[in-house]
Amino acid sequence: MRLVLVGPPGAGKGTQAEIIAERLGIPKISTGDIFRANVSGGTPLGLKAKEYMDAGELVPDEVTNDMVADRLAQDDAKDGFLLDGYPRNTEQAKVLDRILDEAGVTLDVALELTASDDEVVRRLSGRRVSKSTGKIYHLEFDPPADPDSEDLFQRSDDKPETVKHRLEVYAEQTAPLVGFYEQQGKLTRIDALGEVAEVTERALNAIG
Ligand code: ADP
Ligand code: ADP
Ligand code: ADP
Repeated sequence: MRLVLVGPPGAGKGTQAEIIAERLGIPKISTGDIFRANVSGGTPLGLKAKEYMDAGELVPDEVTNDMVADRLAQDDAKDGFLLDGYPRNTEQAKVLDRILDEAGVTLDVALELTASDDEVVRRLSGRRVSKSTGKIYHLEFDPPADPDSEDLFQRSDDKPETVKHRLEVYAEQTAPLVGFYEQQGKLTRIDALGEVAEVTERALNAIG
């Protein structure tokens, strides 16, 4: 299965990506995670991405597309993958189609997770991530055993001013992807409200 997840920041893409990829036995490729790992590692890629991420802007397409092309060329992605956070605009979606076309394969499904602005703001404001495992928690909805643990961090782009801008960027640049995939007949939409497990079942049923 070759699958992309689309949805506003905070809809639960990272949470579901982890579970769905595991259930389907395909690698999860999260561009946000790759960028964050490169920022904390101080790599050239991280240096290029950091200022955009801090501002809640998209990292430029040429940087992002090359990174994804490299990642998709790795062996574990040959028979399927779940992309989380990519594509983020129609240009990236066209590049993805081209990468897959050159490999002689096609995308199966674009799964859209829908959630209201109020809900995503609630989810983002309580998001905490484990430094050691990458696991995503929520202070209220999925609390970590020790909320004061040194291992937990709050993403710097989850502060309220940046969240507001990320939602604007989503509406302007990413939401048009929904129409792009609808035209290709690949769009499947599910409601991201409800328990994590409930959303997972909804997603797995929707993608067949
Ligand atoms: P995204 O990758 O779309 O930005 P995340 O998966 O990081 O979203 O989830 C954002 C926040 O919402 C996290 O704190 C996560 O624990 C929480 N969350 C995810 N799914 C649900 C859900 N179904 N109900 C309540 N909170 C959720
Ligand atoms: P969320 O799911 O909470 O929106 P991500 O972890 O997917 O956050 O992305 C965090 C940041 O990483 C984005 O705001 C953007 O700066 C950068 N980023 C991630 N994926 C892409 C992409 N496909 N294109 C450009 N920038 C990206
Ligand atoms: P630059 O284009 O800035 O030279 P690179 O593509 O060389 O950046 O990547 C810098 C670092 O990021 C490398 O250490 C590489 O391992 C890591 N990296 C790049 N792409 C990925 C990826 N898809 N998954 C995981 N790590 C990646």
